[in-house]
Amino acid sequence: MTTIASPDATELQTVTHSYEAAAGAIGLADDLRTVLAQPYREIAAQVPVRMDGGGLRVFTAYRVQHNGALGPFKGGLRYHPQVDLDEVRALAAAMTWKTALTGLPFGGGKGGMTLDCKELSEGERQRATRGAMRGLEKVLGPMRDIMAPDMGTGPQEMAWLMDEYSRLVGHTPAIVTGKPLDLGGTCGRVEATGEGVAIAAREAAREAGLELPGARVAVQGFGNVGSHAADALHRLGCVVVGVSDIEGAVYNPGGLDVGELVRRARAGIAGHDGLDVERITNEELLGVECEVLVPAAVGGVIHAGNADAVRARMVVEGANNPTTPGGDAILNERGVTVVPDILANAGGVIVSYLEWIQNTQNVQWKLAQVQQELEQRMTDAFGVTHARSLHERCTLREAAHRVGLERVAAALRLRGFDIY
Ligand code: NAD
Repeated sequence: MTTIASPDATELQTVTHSYEAAAGAIGLADDLRTVLAQPYREIAAQVPVRMDGGGLRVFTAYRVQHNGALGPFKGGLRYHPQVDLDEVRALAAAMTWKTALTGLPFGGGKGGMTLDCKELSEGERQRATRGAMRGLEKVLGPMRDIMAPDMGTGPQEMAWLMDEYSRLVGHTPAIVTGKPLDLGGTCGRVEATGEGVAIAAREAAREAGLELPGARVAVQGFGNVGSHAADALHRLGCVVVGVSDIEGAVYNPGGLDVGELVRRARAGIAGHDGLDVERITNEELLGVECEVLVPAAVGGVIHAGNADAVRARMVVEGANNPTTPGGDAILNERGVTVVPDILANAGGVIVSYLEWIQNTQNVQWKLAQVQQELEQRMTDAFGVTHARSLHERCTLREAAHRVGLERVAAALRLRGFDIY
């Protein structure tokens, strides 16, 4: 297994850096600045799980609700061996700016459980997931806080969460999004984040004068976001030259067989037998000759120690916090366009919102309607961000955070956040 080189900042430092910069730029008043610098609520729940062998393991489920001025808290639930409260805090705050930037009536939250899915049987994973819901249930609700998939979780975990909540309080499909289609999920949710990454890349390429057909793309992480982003970019005419997962990367300067890689990833087939590929490391993947680089795995992978090696003209952040402030400064100096995470990977939460609407109204939309809404909301968010960056001569990241922060601050003021 390849490890990703160590970052020069934690995810919390990365998110805090963007927040402080935006707060300074928009002249955010000190009182609001103090409130928004901290999460509204954090909980850590004990999750005891009876293992198949008879022993007991105790996991911890975290939920951080950063800010709910614009609506119920919204954000994924992550399972990963390195998840800790600081990481969940960072991800929750980023959700606040993301939902605000994309004009959704949601606040920001995030959950996590420190576990390695590969070490657990399906039964153990189900008991841990149901335990997390029982531990967190008091602060969740379809009008309070709605979870969704993130790294290590998917439709099956959402089904278990929905079922456990429904056992406790009655049938409530809107308690989580990203559910299977047969259980109140929406068409287009599974691929939404990756499709949104491709829309963001297309818009940014147009502004940068980069022709996408024929452009070379490298994608780090080939899970939900990375594989669908690669597939969508391939359909836009890009040549996908490199992809990776936690085991390492494959590369072919003439183009990989994306369809076959996606098929194998979906079927859980490991290895690349019969494919014309060169094996490289995750670190090498970041430096391959390409026009578009999509980090879609973990945070902190592009940092002050390796940003000089990035050859791409554009970095489109599928993952959350993949670029540290040090890495970001180097990319900016070198004229690399960076489409920030809160914009580039917002497709997931946008379609989660559409799922939540369908659940609360008890209706089922057609795929075309979901795709049209996703397209409209992604292009609107890109347009607002790009216009702001031109107007204020700042980066897309700075512009996106200024727009998001302004909207949240305005909602807080209107609500009267300081009356108690
Ligand atoms: P996933 O679990 O489906 O896939 C993660 C991929 O990253 C896998 O291919 C895995 O092998 C790889 N990976 C994990 N650790 C790695 C490491 N150390 N080095 C290299 N590769 C590694 O997760 P996902 O849902 O695709 O999420 C990926 C990223 O996108 C995360 O940062 C997540 O927060 C973000 N994101 C996800 C969604 C969503 O809807 N799923 C929405 C917005 C943002």
